[in-house]
Amino acid sequence: MPVYEFECSEGHITEELVKMGTQNTKCSKCRKRAKKIMSQCSFELKGGGWYADGYSSKGSKTSKKSE
Ligand SMILES: [Zn+2]
Repeated sequence: MPVYEFECSEGHITEELVKMGTQNTKCSKCRKRAKKIMSQCSFELKGGGWYADGYSSKGSKTSKKSE
């Protein structure tokens, strides 16, 4: 099963192993509902310019680039 990142309304990031298609989980820190984050979105938030110049030339499978 894949590991997904979830973010709650408090901004906590939780990594969880969940079934395909799971959209929500509970935050491990505050127990609020956390929504699944698509990896492309999280790169866009963290990296700013990375999305613009990295995505178009390398496609969608560069998931380890910023970690
Ligand atoms: Zn939280």
